[in-house]
Amino acid sequence: MSDTLEQQFAAVKAHPLVQRGIAFLESDANKTLQEQLAMTAIPAAPFKEQARAAYFRDRLAEAGVSDARIDAEGNVIGTRKGCGGPALVLSAHIDTVFPEGTDLTITQKDGRYIAPGIRDDSRGLAAVLSVARAFDATGLRTVGDVWFVGTVGEEGLGNLRGVRALFREHAGIDGFISIDGGDMGRITLAATGSRRFRVTYKGPGGHSFAAFGLPSAVHAMGRAIARIADLRTPADPKTTFNVGRVRGGTGATAIAEDAVMDVDVRSNAADELERTAAEVIAIIEASARDENARWNSSELSVAIEDLGARPAGTQPRDQPIVRAAVAAVRSLGIEQLQFGASSTDCNIPISLGIPAIAIPGGGKSGGNHSLTEWFDPTLGHLGPQNAFLTVLTLAGIEGATQPQLPRRR
Ligand SMILES: [Zn+2]
Repeated sequence: MSDTLEQQFAAVKAHPLVQRGIAFLESDANKTLQEQLAMTAIPAAPFKEQARAAYFRDRLAEAGVSDARIDAEGNVIGTRKGCGGPALVLSAHIDTVFPEGTDLTITQKDGRYIAPGIRDDSRGLAAVLSVARAFDATGLRTVGDVWFVGTVGEEGLGNLRGVRALFREHAGIDGFISIDGGDMGRITLAATGSRRFRVTYKGPGGHSFAAFGLPSAVHAMGRAIARIADLRTPADPKTTFNVGRVRGGTGATAIAEDAVMDVDVRSNAADELERTAAEVIAIIEASARDENARWNSSELSVAIEDLGARPAGTQPRDQPIVRAAVAAVRSLGIEQLQFGASSTDCNIPISLGIPAIAIPGGGKSGGNHSLTEWFDPTLGHLGPQNAFLTVLTLAGIEGATQPQLPRRR
């Protein structure tokens, strides 16, 4: 029957211990906020997540997840065992985009907390902890195993190293929920893929007048940028390109010896991502050939360094993991839903064909990835409540409901 999931959701929501858990999560809102603020203040630059990971592991253990540990990659992993059902991960990412040494002082203005990384993803980590406490406070037992996870390396050059390790090491995961996102009602179910390159041109260099006639690294790069800027990519699936950073040369009177640019290509579809990345690479290689040909030289070279690749992918909206999240968020009175594509930890499970969504942690936020990132905690408890109901629907309640997340094997 097609409405089974919705019926099971209704049974979950009506369960007396679930009702108690929902009330608990509202009463836990201030503690959740305090932990969010505490984690925001602990630096977690890419590859330097250890201190925040240790804090998160300790809070998870306090919340009754007694086996909480840090794995070889740096992820925090803890489990609440079920009695033989699907394995579902509830996670958030530990790292921020901000480099070591960034001022993480939290300020307050007009009911908002302002600091780098205040939402992304301290809010997700705090919401995971609150959900773990709700399980502990109610003693609810699930049919499936629920994993509470904090991942490293979600942002930038981390290149999803934490979530990649999680799925490399644990073949038995059946579903993945990341608490990482904006306002309530948004459900990220598609993975925006990306390819990033650093392109380095090297030429002979020389005086701009005396050595005129030699190929220039900056001129070659300029040829490439002009052609990349003219690329046409589809609006749907959304596919984008960007030359985000350039540097090179030493001054107006020197033929540039070197030039470097960082290029980013993104798409919601794997084939468009590869097609556009291949076009960009072909343009870059042609720009070096053209610059050499212009001066009848072979002295200019170009090297392309891979800075990271994130797989793209999408999944149907009628999957149980999406329907469970929709039922949960609607039951909390949020009618305006938004289905989105984004680059998150979900890229890895989605690319492996494992159901995965990203959902918000509650409250309102803005200025993501900026030094003035802000978080407004109004109605923040809706985030953990939404996650709690979604997890219970998918994992099933022992003796009461059937898990709605299919087992993969
Ligand atoms: Zn994030």
